Amino acid sequence: MKLPSLNLQILLAAVLGVAMGLYFHALGTEHQLVTLGLYAAGLAGTLFVDLLKMILIPLVFCSISVGIANLRAHQQMHRVWVTTLVYFVLTMMIAIALGLMAANYFKPGSGLHITMFAEAMQNFEAKQLPLSAFFAQFLHGLFMNPFQALAKGDVLAVVMFALILGVALVVGGERFKHIHLLLQEALEITMLIVRWIMYLAPIGITALLLQLVAVQDIGILSTLGKFVAVVVGVTLLHGLLVLPLILYLVTKKSPWWFFQGAREALLTAFATSSSAATLPVTVRCITQRLHVRPDVAGFVAPLGATINMDGTALYEAIAALFIANLVGVELSFVQQLIVFLTAMIAAMGAPGIPSAGMVTMVLVLQSVGLPAEAIAILLPIDRLLDTLRTTVNVQGDMVGSLVVEKLAVTPNSLQAHNPVSQYDNEY
Ligand code: ASP
Repeated sequence: MKLPSLNLQILLAAVLGVAMGLYFHALGTEHQLVTLGLYAAGLAGTLFVDLLKMILIPLVFCSISVGIANLRAHQQMHRVWVTTLVYFVLTMMIAIALGLMAANYFKPGSGLHITMFAEAMQNFEAKQLPLSAFFAQFLHGLFMNPFQALAKGDVLAVVMFALILGVALVVGGERFKHIHLLLQEALEITMLIVRWIMYLAPIGITALLLQLVAVQDIGILSTLGKFVAVVVGVTLLHGLLVLPLILYLVTKKSPWWFFQGAREALLTAFATSSSAATLPVTVRCITQRLHVRPDVAGFVAPLGATINMDGTALYEAIAALFIANLVGVELSFVQQLIVFLTAMIAAMGAPGIPSAGMVTMVLVLQSVGLPAEAIAILLPIDRLLDTLRTTVNVQGDMVGSLVVEKLAVTPNSLQAHNPVSQYDNEY
């Protein structure tokens, strides 16, 4: 019997995971079948994420350095670089603006009282994180001994070193052609390993979603219903309307074509809640299904996975206004402007791991004098909301790769080297 395509298997896996999770939820966590099922799902889900994390650092290192090195012409490199950053900043600004508008209109949290959550806040101590300290910490984390960064799995520091290495390869040209070739081959190998890992994706995704749904506390969702609805609504608006529109206007590619090609990565992001863990799948989808040049994808996607987070940015803004409503503070226009800016910084600074946005949100709250402890209220639902915002974070990186390729790269002006495309027809 011939199995359905991997793309379809992953979709079915997601549906199965949610269905089984609901069934387990109905049975209750005491049930023996549920205990056993959750244990097995825990093992399978962790294995899948561990494998993705295993390949993440070699992939980031190789794809960025090779990506930059292949953007040979200096002019071209400059354009790709600038277009990428402008795209990241603009799309995050749109996301935050939408979030703020919706939060001002719907006023989530205004009917609730913070005293209702006193218990949750009692045992919670937020780490103080003034903007200046956050900025210093962020800057300090950018440059690090590359071996230490690789070993620690510090994605941002690896990105920075790989960028510098890529530029050095461009400047050195012929002189370093062996290192260039070595990295190129290393990239091909990592992509081959990613392909193997993806065979486990259907099982991994079923397991992760099953766990998520089975243990979810539905009660808290309804208490915070309006807030959840605003966050989900704006995230969907951004993911289903704004980003596809930008894609269509710039590249004339249909959203349907995009979602078909991006599906594997989007579902992996949804199940893992981690842009970083999803990155190997993201690069694979962009290059092999959406046919972006690997040198552009190799640059935009890893950088995007660390700093471009539309979903997180809009979440931080809505959450700040929600907490303001909860404590009965009316934020002025200037204060909302501060929320706008800090939400962007906090989203950029959040690493692509589960609930990272929650931690950097302290920064946004403190910037306008809101009690940072209030994020304790959001913690119980964060894992659930993280699924969707991570999906949109990853989607933003994928749309970005297509947009940057269209705007910054003129056909044939780059090296026609395509190390990843040889796997195109292999499944
Ligand atoms: N989980 C998100 C991501 O990996 C970050 C966040 O917590 O918002 O993209």
